[in-house]
Amino acid sequence: MPDTQTNANGERVLADLNALRAIGAYKTGVHKPTFSEPHRQSLDWLVQKLPDAGLSATIDGIGNVLGTSTKAGPKLLAGSHLESQNYAGWLDGPLGVIYALEAARVLNADPSVKGAVEVAAWCDEEGHFGSFLGSRSYVGQVTEAEIDAARDRTGGRAMRDALAEMGLSGRARVAVEPGRHVGYLEAHIEQGDTLESSHLAVGVVTSIVGIWQYRINFSGEQNHAGTTRMAVRKDAGLALAKFCVAIDERFPDTCGPRTVWTTGRITLEPGAPSIIPGGAEMLFQIRDDNPAVIARLEELLRTMADEASAKGPCTVSVEKIRTGAPAMMNAGFQDAIEAASKAVAGGRSIRMPSGAGHDAQMLATVMPAGMLFVPSIGGISHHWTENTADVDIVTGAQVFVDACRRILSA
Ligand SMILES: [Zn+2]
Repeated sequence: MPDTQTNANGERVLADLNALRAIGAYKTGVHKPTFSEPHRQSLDWLVQKLPDAGLSATIDGIGNVLGTSTKAGPKLLAGSHLESQNYAGWLDGPLGVIYALEAARVLNADPSVKGAVEVAAWCDEEGHFGSFLGSRSYVGQVTEAEIDAARDRTGGRAMRDALAEMGLSGRARVAVEPGRHVGYLEAHIEQGDTLESSHLAVGVVTSIVGIWQYRINFSGEQNHAGTTRMAVRKDAGLALAKFCVAIDERFPDTCGPRTVWTTGRITLEPGAPSIIPGGAEMLFQIRDDNPAVIARLEELLRTMADEASAKGPCTVSVEKIRTGAPAMMNAGFQDAIEAASKAVAGGRSIRMPSGAGHDAQMLATVMPAGMLFVPSIGGISHHWTENTADVDIVTGAQVFVDACRRILSA
């Protein structure tokens, strides 16, 4: 292992992550919704740490923490997020922020390193008030009107009120400075079990998959559940159930190797035990990093709907409600992470797409971006039991710092 002057100090990384876990602790995880008191304390904690890494810290008007350097030479932006899902894990977000902080501490003080690592904690990646609000604001995709309209998931708390309570009203939002950064690097827990099941230490992310979402409607005839003979029913709920099963039977012949699809919500109309549903709706999502695969699957979905309508007794329609372009990670950054993995982790890495969304997909719209994954125990995330072995956290930090060094000297 490289010594602590040229690479990550594992004890310091673990101590920092545990300090953040203590703020808003819930069992072995955290409960740190965006703009909650523990979230605010976590932002303040980071602001106090950044000067140790040679960075000046600010919290901007949307709650992003940014640490900037005056050191000459190229700047690499690195980070993740500090808020959590409700009653969730301690590493989802903080891992990437602390790795970035550690890279800045090690490399910004090293006179042999040209340039510096700058640190960002993007606000509300977890979507309590919107979707990727902090990183999207930074890349110029959030309007003041969107902030005016944003409320938390319960619909109760306006984002403007939350910003005021955080003391951030009237502050400018920091925007990307074209040409300032050579790129953006983010570390994250995998949130799946690919690395653990293959006994690997590092995932080199190739892309962040796009999400396509469809509303599929089934139209039948509402009637009495006791008096309507089975032969004459037009049960929209039953039609939906059959359609779901047909998707699982037919998609595997057309999908890509890592395509995933989910029916996340089903609604029956009117939704009463003694009434045959006259209408049904399913929200259906497909994720892949290849738009051509999605196009094939969407065509199949529409064909299946036409076939089902022709067969009857219910009619089926498909409406696309969300199109998400995949974000490709920079090839040079992938090579840098892989080389770092060979240098400090025995090459125990694999290239893989990310099935989950991350701030890096927003940054990828304005600069080269890369991501590194560390293993998640049991593939569990968005739950307070989420965890990664200490040894894997430390190895990931070493690979991350080494990769940052390679990118800055490229
Ligand atoms: Zn996350």
